[in-house]
Formats: sequence, C-alpha cells, structure tokens
Amino acid sequence: MLNVPSQSFPAPSSQQRVASGGRSKVPLKQGRSLMDWIRLTKSGKDLTGLKGRLIEVTEEELKKHNKKDDCWICIRGFVYNVSPYMEYHPGGEDELMRAAGSDGTDLFDQVHRWVNYESMLKECLVGRMAIKPAVSKDYHEEKKVLNGLSHEVEEDFSVRVVENVGKIEIVLKKKETTSWKRLGHPLENHNSLIPRKDTGLYYRKCQLISKEGVTHDTKLFCLMLPPSAHLQVPTGQHVYLKLTITGTEIVKPYTPVSDFLLSEFKEPVLLNNKYIYFLIKVYPDGLFTPELDHLQIGDSVSVSNPEGNFKTSQFQELEDLFLLAAGTGFTPMAKILNYALTNIPSLRKVKLMFFNKTEDDIIWRSQLEKLAFKDKRFDVEFVLSAPTSEWNGKRGHISPALLSEFLKRSLDKSKVLICICGPTPFTEQGIRLLHELNFSKDEIHSFTA
Ligand code: FAD
Ligand code: NAP
Repeated sequence: MLNVPSQSFPAPSSQQRVASGGRSKVPLKQGRSLMDWIRLTKSGKDLTGLKGRLIEVTEEELKKHNKKDDCWICIRGFVYNVSPYMEYHPGGEDELMRAAGSDGTDLFDQVHRWVNYESMLKECLVGRMAIKPAVSKDYHEEKKVLNGLSHEVEEDFSVRVVENVGKIEIVLKKKETTSWKRLGHPLENHNSLIPRKDTGLYYRKCQLISKEGVTHDTKLFCLMLPPSAHLQVPTGQHVYLKLTITGTEIVKPYTPVSDFLLSEFKEPVLLNNKYIYFLIKVYPDGLFTPELDHLQIGDSVSVSNPEGNFKTSQFQELEDLFLLAAGTGFTPMAKILNYALTNIPSLRKVKLMFFNKTEDDIIWRSQLEKLAFKDKRFDVEFVLSAPTSEWNGKRGHISPALLSEFLKRSLDKSKVLICICGPTPFTEQGIRLLHELNFSKDEIHSFTA
C-alpha cells in the first residue's frame, strides 16, 4: 500500500468539514485527522509546555502568546495552548490565529458553537484567566428542578407545536384536583425568550430504544428523551449527537426523520414527542458511526437542540417541490415530504430524485414507492451510479440531462422549490447545474455542511 495522502481528506462527510455559516475548510495533512488528534492527546506528551501544571493567566500574559508556535486562546475563562492543535484544526491555522493571545469566546461561538472544545482541548489547558470573563449565562447544565409551579403536576404533559405559526401549547395535568390560588413563580431565565442565535448548545441524555437495519449499512436508531423533556426538531433541521470515544467527546450532526413513512408498516407506533428517530449510515472505518452502532439498547447518547437554516415559510404558496437526494442526504427530505404533503394546500407536485450506488443502498424504497402509489401528487425516481445489469431504471450521476427532464413545472409559472442534499461535491455540482438551468437562488435550498 502506498502511503499517498488522500485527495478526499477530510472526507466530505467528516467532522473536519462540518461548519456553519459557510466557513471555509482547509485540507488537512495526512495524519492530522480528528482521530490522530485524539491519539496525540492520549500519548502523554506535554501539550501545554507546562508539564501538567495549571496556572492563573493574566491578560498581559495571554497577550504575549500570540504566535503560531506559541498561541494561547481564552474560551469562557479557560486558557488553552492551541499551538499543538493548529495542524489538526479543520478551519485552518489562520482561523485559530484570529483569536491568538485573546478571548476567543465570541469567535468560537460563531463558528464552533457545537464543538466540544473542553474535551477536545483538555490536554492543552494552561489554566484559568486571573480575572475571569463572565461565563455565558446560557451555558448551563440540565436543571433538576422542573418548574416553579405552586402545586404538583403530573410528570407526563403534552406539548403541541404548530410549526408554521410558531405557536406552542403546553397542557399540564394537576396531580390533585384542588383549585390553585396562584400559578407559581417563573424560574430564573424561564420567563424570557432568547433569540436562537444567542442560546448555547444544550445536550440532553437520551436512551437508545431500538436499532434496526434499513439497508445493508444504514440503520434506524430510535432514541427516547429523558422524562419531562420535550424536543421537537423543526422540518429541515438537524441536531448534534455526542458520544465519548476513547475519553474524548465527539460530536456529529444528524437529521432526525419522522416515522410517517414507517407508521403504515409498523404497529404500534411509538408515541410522538418522546422519541426521536435517526437514519444513520455506519461507515466501518468512520470515527463516530461504528461507536454509535456498538451501543446497546438502554445506553445513552447526548442530543443537542436543533440547528439549521431551513424555514417552512419557503413552502408558502408552493406548487412544485423537487427533492434531490444522494445517499443519507435523503434524511432531511423525509420530514420535508411529510410536511409538504400534509400542510401545503397549494402543492400540486412533489418529486424526489434519489441517487444511490446500487439498489441495495436505497433507503425506504418500498415505503417511497407505496407513498407514490397512494398520493398522486408524489413521484419518486431512483438513479443508480453502480447498478447491476438487471436495473431498468435511470443510471449515472446528477447531470444536466437528468435534471432538465426531471424538473418540469406543473404549470408554466408555478412556484417551485428545489431541495438538494448529499455528499458535498454532489450538492455543489447540483447547485451549479440548477443555476445553469436558470433556477434562481430563492428557488433552491441546499443542505450543506
Ligand atoms: P468519518 O470518520 O467522518 O468518516 C466518513 C468516511 O470518510 C469513512 O468512509 C472514512 O473512511 C472516510 N475518511 C475518514 N477519514 C479519512 C481520511 N483521512 N481520508 C480519506 N477518507 C477518510 N449522516 C447520516 O447517516 N444520517 C444523517 O441524518 C446525517 N445528517 C447530517 C446532517 C448534517 C447537517 C451533516 C453536515 C451531516 C449529516 N450526516 C448524516 C453525516 C454525519 O454527520 C457524519 O459525517 C457521518 O455519520 C460520518 O461520520 P463518522 O465519524 O462515522 O465517519
Ligand atoms: P454515497 O452512498 O457515497 O453516494 C450516494 C450517491 O451520490 C451515489 O450515487 C454516489 O455516486 C453519488 N455521488 C457521490 N459523490 C458524487 C459527486 N461528486 N458527484 C455526483 N454524484 C456523487 O453517499 P453517502 O455515503 O450516503 O453520503 C451522504 C452524504 O450526505 C454524507 O456526506 C453526509 O454528510 C451528507 N448529508 C448531509 C446532510 C445535511 O447537510 N443536512 C444530511 C444528511 C447527509 P458514486 O457511486 O460515484 O459514489
């Protein structure tokens, strides 16, 4: 085997490439993957240069460490020597250097909000700031106290979210049927609304309830939320799953799917709102998914609050919805399909073009075909890049010919939305082709890392 650096590193789907806000990602050198970093942190090497000592760092001291080979950064009051991490940083050295010798908390929150730096950089910890900058109020552990109500209520309560108007209805049941003189007092920070961009990532421990094969390498994971927790991930958004792998917390994004395609086939359907489903492809040589796959029923996985920039307002007055998905890029489409077919009265046509390597790779094929049979507005086409000779359907990769035939409006000027998701190069090529076919920016929503 030749030890030639892989052109595709970081892998299109790997954590090394994932960032919000269109941040540029730099190619990392061979041997500088996340796993390589974890190995280095476990090697016992002195990464701070302080031989394990923790010190109090003054602002003057922090400012002095502002060079690539001597770079300290303060994040939420803790100072890290990030020089050893430079070459492993997916955003590149220049990005880290923007915070060199200073408080990088805001910068970090803008682009790395979901990265669990405390764990990733724990071997780089130099110490605390002597004068501690205020710790973000939103960064808090799960609270044990449930509410500030004056009397007890049943643990089980229902929450109804009307996604398109943003209304939330919470129905609580009194434990005793006495009349309450007063309602109670709001807990600290509870009687307020915080803009989503200002909230920290908050994880709750969920329990693995089931794990079922969907294709040869993709599984449906069902997680149960902790008691009294409510989490509704809006259509088109994702969450982060967190696991501790060889002592380091690793976080990766995943898009929950609704069970609507499943519900016809499986009874009883688990109660909504308590459970969250993920379709996840297990990469045998990946970092995160084999670990997830090894979890036993009852084990826990931390799940963050949702993120993403898809808005269901994009569906307003929509007439034609085209979905272009490759591989697990199908995951956001599952909820989008359900939402559009159920909530958009103006909708005339929904078409899914689903790209896979082989027939065996197609996720929920029979469910999709059945849905197409049942709902005349919906059509599905499968395109295979490596089919067997028996395959009668479409072949190849995303191309102008496939797209121009597929993207036919139901009426001359019908309002269209095209959603696209898959491996980054697939999505990027798709967007280019869509522009060449004269679809405007507003008519395209791409799910990118
Ligand atoms: P990685 O370690 O990232 O490896 C993935 C592949 O890249 C493997 O084949 C591995 O061999 C290869 N690779 C790793 N390192 C190198 C290297 N140095 N050189 C060459 N190749 C390398 N996935 C889902 O299955 N379901 C979802 O719902 C889902 N939702 C997502 C939502 C978003 C917003 C994003 C950005 C991604 C989503 N993903 C989803 C992908 C997911 O986040 C992970 O990237 C994926 O699960 C792979 O993780 P991993 O750690 O197991 O593999
Ligand atoms: P895959 O099986 O490797 O590929 C699926 C199909 O896409 C195959 O037909 C493949 O063709 C084709 N393809 C791959 N690269 C292409 C390219 N450059 N141009 C044209 N076609 C290409 O896919 P996967 O392993 O399931 O990966 C799914 C990807 O979706 C992951 O990268 C994941 O991160 C991403 N994803 C993103 C989100 C999100 O952003 N919200 C959500 C879910 C998943 P070949 O046979 O030629 O490989």
